[in-house]
Amino acid sequence: MMKPIPYGRQEITEEDIHSVVEVLRSDFLTQGPTIEKFEQEFAAYIGSRFAVAVANGTAALHLSVLSLGLNRGKKVITSPITFAASANCVLYAGGEVVFADIDPKTYTIDLNIVDDILKKSNGKDYSGIIPIDLAGYPVHTEELRTIADKYGLWILEDACHAPGGAFLDSQNVWQQCGNGVYADAAIFSFHPVKHIATGEGGMITTNNEEIYRKIKLLRTHGITRDTSMLDKNDGGWYYEMLQLGYNYRLTDIQAALGLSQLKRASKNLQRRIELAHTYFRALSNIDHIQLPYTHNNIRHAYHLFIIQTDYRKQLYDFLRTKNIFCQVHYIPVHTFPYYRQLGWKMGDFPKAEAYYEKCLSLPLFQTLTNEQQEYVIASINEFYAKKS
Ligand SMILES: *Cc1c(COP(=O)(O)O)cnc(C)c1O
Repeated sequence: MMKPIPYGRQEITEEDIHSVVEVLRSDFLTQGPTIEKFEQEFAAYIGSRFAVAVANGTAALHLSVLSLGLNRGKKVITSPITFAASANCVLYAGGEVVFADIDPKTYTIDLNIVDDILKKSNGKDYSGIIPIDLAGYPVHTEELRTIADKYGLWILEDACHAPGGAFLDSQNVWQQCGNGVYADAAIFSFHPVKHIATGEGGMITTNNEEIYRKIKLLRTHGITRDTSMLDKNDGGWYYEMLQLGYNYRLTDIQAALGLSQLKRASKNLQRRIELAHTYFRALSNIDHIQLPYTHNNIRHAYHLFIIQTDYRKQLYDFLRTKNIFCQVHYIPVHTFPYYRQLGWKMGDFPKAEAYYEKCLSLPLFQTLTNEQQEYVIASINEFYAKKS
């Protein structure tokens, strides 16, 4: 039997280990120089002006919503097909989540539906929109910007799945996910299943200096030592707390791991794309499977390879008996007991719910070997051979 194959997992090299050990022997385990280096190099990779490293992707969402603010109203629109944190962050900030159904082709939030929702109330009570680059499929933030601008709303791009993804804008320029050109800010996660792994970790990218400064302040208790921001100055020890902030810092230990992994990010993305292409070739002739949508105007980042499939549960269970551990991304957020208690119910978002009935994420990560992938493909074929 093949050893267990998960849907995603981290890659740790000797060089990664060496980088971490170096920080362990240094003067700073946290709030040291490695954080800033990681932020600068991550911003360069994504193409944004600023980046702020934080404890995890959820903290990145929380601080982003707090910094962008709910000044125009409590409501923020997001997709029901995402990890719960993309919606929860709005509640943390005292806001109200409004879901908009997905585009059944791309599985990302349907921009026409977003526009319709806002049109109905002329944007009243709405402050922002949180689109998700689901599986690595880039949301067209340029088109979303046009909609958001009609009502003065901010855009927070949840780009956890899409470092290295991009879309071609109306000027024929490739716009990388999270580069801050059309969205006001974007967030990333460094959870072990994501492209870059630091154990726990997250990043906010933005081109807006004011947002950048707010987030940095909130990351460390709302405390500053910056003399230009102080009311008075009692001496070298002195600092002031200006806002009710948090301790959402990343450690230098984690930043060292992130920096080391970032060096391989492009290469690893290429490997993910290569594996995805192999799935496309191998599974295209199975009638029961619908493969991910893609076209020439996007560069998919392939965090996940999500198929839509008949007999989803049977296939999932069958693959488990083969030691292949697929996953479902995601259970629609509005159907969770917590969100139902807020008034949402099954039936509210038919496209998201139909998507959920059939979606399955196949194993996809940089260290998945060709042999392992062939075994996954052979097992899927074996399952459907009995069905047709
Ligand atoms: C992973 C993920 C998050 C949360 O990141 P954490 O680092 O686990 O807090 C948020 N949104 C999406 C889409 C994610 O995939």
